[in-house]
Formats: sequence, C-alpha cells, structure tokens
Amino acid sequence: MQTKPAAPSFGIITAILLMAGALAPAVRCGMPAAAPAPLPTGTRQAVLVVPRAPGSHTATLSLVELEGGVWRERMAPVPAVLGRAGIAPAGAKREGDGKTPSGVFPLGIAFGYGATCDTRLPYRMAGPDDYWIDDPASPHYNRWVRGPRPAFSHERLRRSDAQYTYGIVVEYNTAPVTPGAGSAIFLHVWRAPNTPTAGCVALSETDMARLLRLLDPSLRPVVAIGAPPAQPAPPTFVPAPHLVEISGPEYVLDLRYNTDNNFLGRNVYAPHGITRCYLHRDAAARLTAAARDLHAKGFRIVLWDCYRPLSVQRAMWRIMPNERYVANPAKGSNHNRGIAVDCSLARADGRELPMPTPFDDFSERAAVNARCSSDAAERCRNRDLLRGAMERAGLEPYPSEWWHYQLPDARRYPVLRDE
Ligand SMILES: [Zn+2]
Repeated sequence: MQTKPAAPSFGIITAILLMAGALAPAVRCGMPAAAPAPLPTGTRQAVLVVPRAPGSHTATLSLVELEGGVWRERMAPVPAVLGRAGIAPAGAKREGDGKTPSGVFPLGIAFGYGATCDTRLPYRMAGPDDYWIDDPASPHYNRWVRGPRPAFSHERLRRSDAQYTYGIVVEYNTAPVTPGAGSAIFLHVWRAPNTPTAGCVALSETDMARLLRLLDPSLRPVVAIGAPPAQPAPPTFVPAPHLVEISGPEYVLDLRYNTDNNFLGRNVYAPHGITRCYLHRDAAARLTAAARDLHAKGFRIVLWDCYRPLSVQRAMWRIMPNERYVANPAKGSNHNRGIAVDCSLARADGRELPMPTPFDDFSERAAVNARCSSDAAERCRNRDLLRGAMERAGLEPYPSEWWHYQLPDARRYPVLRDE
C-alpha cells in the first residue's frame, strides 16, 4: 500500500499558530482586538508587532514567512517599543497623539545613515537635507522632502543620535494621505530598550539590522501591529467513534506528515487538525499487543503515520498525482481505512534504532525482505525485530515498505469519508 502524503497550501494556519503563541499573553490580559484586515493577497512575509499589555509601550516583534504553503518563523520575537501612549485602535491614530497605529501596512523603503545598507529593500541614504514633513497643513504632509529646511513642521532624517541609523517606512497614511491622521511612522532603532517613541515601532540596532537582511520585497512584506491578521482558526479534528487514539509510554509519536520532515517537505496534517495517531479499534488492539511485547523488551514503537483522512489523501494527490508515490484517493489507501500504521523502533529513551532506510524511501532497500550488507546487518535485525512483534500480534507487512503494517483482510474495512 503506497502511503504518501502531500498537501495543499494551508500555510496561513501555521502563521496563526505562531501569532497566537506570540499573542497569548496579551489576549489573556484582555487586550482590545484591533482587528486589522486580513493579509493582502500575495503577501508572504509579515512583521508581527504585539504589545505586551493593553496601553503598554513595550511589545514583541517577530518575522514570519510563507514557505511551501506553511508560515514559518524567520525571526523569533525580540523586544520592541511603541508610541508613549501605546497603540491606537484601527483608524484612530491622530497626529501628535503619541500612539502607534494598529493594522496591517505594507513596508516601504529602507533608509539610514550609511551610503549602502545590507537589505534587499529599496534603500535611500538620509543626508543633512532630508526631512519628513509632519505638519498636516503642508501639501507635503507625511512625505520625505529634500532641500532647504522646510517652513512646515518636520523632523530631520539625519539625526544627531542613532535612531535613524536604520529605518523602514511603514506605508501608513501614505496612499492616500489624510491630513492629521498621523505621519512619519517607521520601524527604526530605539533610543533605549524602555524608551517609547512618538508613534513608531523601535527595536535594537542589532535586531533592526537583522530584520533588514531578512526582508524581501518580492514577498510583499507587511507589518501587522497590535493583533494578528484575522484568519480562520485551524480545524479541530474529531475522530469517528471507531477510531482509537494510540498513545502511551510504549510509543514515540513522530507523525511525519504533521511536520516538514517528509518526502514532500511540507506539513499536510496541520491544516486538517491531525496531530495524533488514530487507528480503527481492530488495528489498535493488535498494535497495542505488539507495543506491549516490544516495551517489555525495552523498545518503543515510533509512530510515523496512522489514520489519514481521505481529504488529506485528495490534497496529496492534487500535489503528486503519481501512484508510485501517493495512493490514488479514488481507491483509497489503507491508511484512509484506519487500519494501517507506518512505524519504526526506538530504545526506551526515545532514540530511534537504525533501520535499512529512512521513512518513505522509495528504493528496493525499503522492501521488507531486502538484504543488508554485512556491515549493516544490525539494521536488518532491527527491522526484523519490529516485524516479528507485529506479525505475532496479527498485523501484516507491506512487501515494499518495511515500516508499513496493516490488518489482513483490508477490504472488509471501508475507506472513511470525512468530507
Ligand atoms: Zn503506510
């Protein structure tokens, strides 16, 4: 039974998990939901800025990126500071209120004191004649101007301190510009770790330099300030009544399709809420017997794959419609019936035993009867130890995959429809 997964790009969900993790403390504190708009279509990179508490001028800043359909953290949360009055609810930012606007905004150009900057963002050096106009009465309000010192209220972009050593323009109130709705919103270097800004987001010089190196304009980066972008929550998987969860000290749970560590290089289970191992109760009873047998000998069963919803199988097939690698959902895999398990062996401390091949190896060496060379004889012995316990418990091997075991008489069990 070929038992390969593959997945649709539900990556947003991982981002939500990341964001939810970053946000949890603030949410528990009852932070008002600023409810920024969803991420713009095509955005694959987002700077997340989350206040530590309602009204706080301290925050965390992280960077997430959509890769292979999954949001991954590219920069773990670092400390940041906000406006002295915290963040303004969506749409409520006003010039001079000392608040950082909340919402999702594109990132614009980078700027700074150096002639060049280590970033892929478009970069502009700030010189002594560069100013940002913060006077709502000016026709150049919320614009960078260069030339003689402006008559309207402004700030210098070449400061006497280090705060604009590195800066990034936040495209807030820039297109179109509403007079008085706030100006000069940047990411920049903080004055000190606990010194607030007038409405910007500021972080350490080191973290600012790192962020500049990681940002990629081809990924249409945005900054999300105040709350995570509104996205659907990840689904909760509810197993059918005859599916039994496999867990306990006899096992090491390593559901490869709930990680990127599989032959598709992407997580195909998280979008469906599959985070645990379930089997049909008939298969569960036999696996339990095998696991107890092995546990008494000092081993644990490593669970790589168990019940796989048909919806996942279809998603896999859309990605890789090749029966050499993925079971055709029109026929269904025995994993879709809940009666197959992909597994290996570990010692009591969880360290995996060496086996003839890795999981989902498509070579002949993965066959359950493949021979091992004399220097790899231990690998075949480990494989056969697993096989012996499984067969004694009444599970049969699949000839071309040493890790796959299933109930005999598989056709008696229907493919489970989950959609
Ligand atoms: Zn399998």
